Amino acid sequence: MPHVITQNCCNDAACVPVCPVECIRPTPDDPNYGTTEMLYIDPDVCIDCGACVDVCPVGAIVADIDLTPEMARFEQINADYFAATGSAADIDAPEGAAQRIVSHTDGGEPLRVAVIGAGAAGHYTAEAMLGRTDVDVRVDMFERLCTPGGLVRFGVAPDHQKTKQVQESFARTMGRDGLRVFFDVEVGRDITHAELLRRYHAVVYAVGAVDGRQLGIPGEDLANSASASEFVAWFNGHPDFADRTFDLSHETVVVIGNGNVALDVARVLTSDPEDLAHTDIADHALDALRHSKVREVVICARRGPEDAAFTSPELLGLSSGTGIDVVVDPEQLDALALDDLPSAHHQFGRDLKLSILRELASAPAHSERRVSLRFFTSPQEIVGDTRVEGIRLLHRNIGRGTSGEHTETLLCGMVLRAVGYRGTAIPGVPFDDARGVIPNDAGRVLDPADGTPVAGTYTTGWIKRGPSGVIGTNKRCANETVDSILDDFAHGRLRTPPDTLDGLDELLPVTFGFTGAQAIDEHELAAGRRSGRPRVKVVDHGELRAIGRSAVPAR
Ligand code: NAP
Repeated sequence: MPHVITQNCCNDAACVPVCPVECIRPTPDDPNYGTTEMLYIDPDVCIDCGACVDVCPVGAIVADIDLTPEMARFEQINADYFAATGSAADIDAPEGAAQRIVSHTDGGEPLRVAVIGAGAAGHYTAEAMLGRTDVDVRVDMFERLCTPGGLVRFGVAPDHQKTKQVQESFARTMGRDGLRVFFDVEVGRDITHAELLRRYHAVVYAVGAVDGRQLGIPGEDLANSASASEFVAWFNGHPDFADRTFDLSHETVVVIGNGNVALDVARVLTSDPEDLAHTDIADHALDALRHSKVREVVICARRGPEDAAFTSPELLGLSSGTGIDVVVDPEQLDALALDDLPSAHHQFGRDLKLSILRELASAPAHSERRVSLRFFTSPQEIVGDTRVEGIRLLHRNIGRGTSGEHTETLLCGMVLRAVGYRGTAIPGVPFDDARGVIPNDAGRVLDPADGTPVAGTYTTGWIKRGPSGVIGTNKRCANETVDSILDDFAHGRLRTPPDTLDGLDELLPVTFGFTGAQAIDEHELAAGRRSGRPRVKVVDHGELRAIGRSAVPAR
């Protein structure tokens, strides 16, 4: 009864160190870890102890006899990974990193660290700091919204409830001794970077990347042309987007870019709303989707299927058990110019993706709701008078016996750009506007003027490395930043802040802490129980604030 890693693997690799036979790959120290779509269990080495199941924060690991029909494919995928790359028994597992004694601050006071942002990156940073046994540390986390979780709450699609379970481990972190959380406090508005540096040895920006990138083509500003990030934030009940409206009165929606965000929005737009009614989707979005006329989402990618940005697990999640047809033109899978890839790991990933696409290309249609995957297709102009009426697309003809280019105007009622996210600048903190990230070296923020580290200032997560990877990718990213902080500490590169934390409360606006977030959580869960849903989200900032403040103020 070997265990199997399934679709919603978050790559946080909590399973790796607890496996007594070291059969989970790639490990975080493996060069392939940074690009892997998921982790895999070697069925020939697994001893079925279930230790990995207990620590998986998203419930992605399942004994083979418990696999549902939608998960069944993953048994073969796990086995095939080792057939392609070699048995786990033959691959050396990494040594655990030895913790070194760092030092203590002058006067033996705890090291004071401010973490800005209570999403995955912020939580992994706090956990990594507080998990160190060699340094006495105190962490204060500041979050501009009234709820924790960042993109886990506002980015992960509502029909991926298991992925959202990772918030339970974030709640455990927030309950740890040595951590305070201040919700409803925006750094740059309510407190400045300079004010934080006067009170903390290190300030870590883990603020993520929220804005969708632009395409830079005519018509992008027409009504009903939006970034997928806005649409995702809207259906996930983000308070800043709750008043947004999307016109769903047309049959066809076009999505530009084919990453996992594109698949998420396509799936939500074409799912049966009654299936979504069992999730924590925002009420306003559920209502709009119940009245939606959308029947087809066309996902356009400028490159070929071999370079598709979506991952195989998510492609399988779109095409199995959803009642949605995924349409692929078989001609676009022919005559692909496939480069050699650097490793068996990469080869396995590409082969798997292409084999799933081939299966989809030959599958008969059975549903009136469909997602069409188009490749070699670039947007030229979004057309319409005041609102989207269509999109002009340039096709590179690649396939059986054809070549050249042609354009097409595809009629549609909405265009969503799913071409990646970008971060926004925080006053007083260096920012690389071209990349939408904070310039850094291993998490140390760099002064753009001379490329040297800015004392006491660090970054992690998407605002550090750009919008890539899944939730657990932020864990390794946070560990790197924490290592940089502690290395600077050990080498005397952290300044002693001139002020203590005594006057912090007077400096901050009215705020609330973990107990306030728990009150919001309990409020939403109770509303969910009453209506047979996992939770009913509160989407109004004022209401969230009132519930949060009604609990005990920030610790
Ligand atoms: P992404 O994976 O980086 O995909 C971006 C897409 O936009 C690519 O297809 C890219 O094409 C295309 N693109 C970029 N610029 C373009 C342009 N100017 N014109 C046309 N196409 C353009 O981004 P994402 O979908 O926003 O996802 C961000 C990260 O979150 C990813 O790591 C993703 O895996 C992760 N995520 C994971 C899940 C999940 O696991 N369920 C869900 C959502 C997001 P090129 O490849 O040709 O550049």
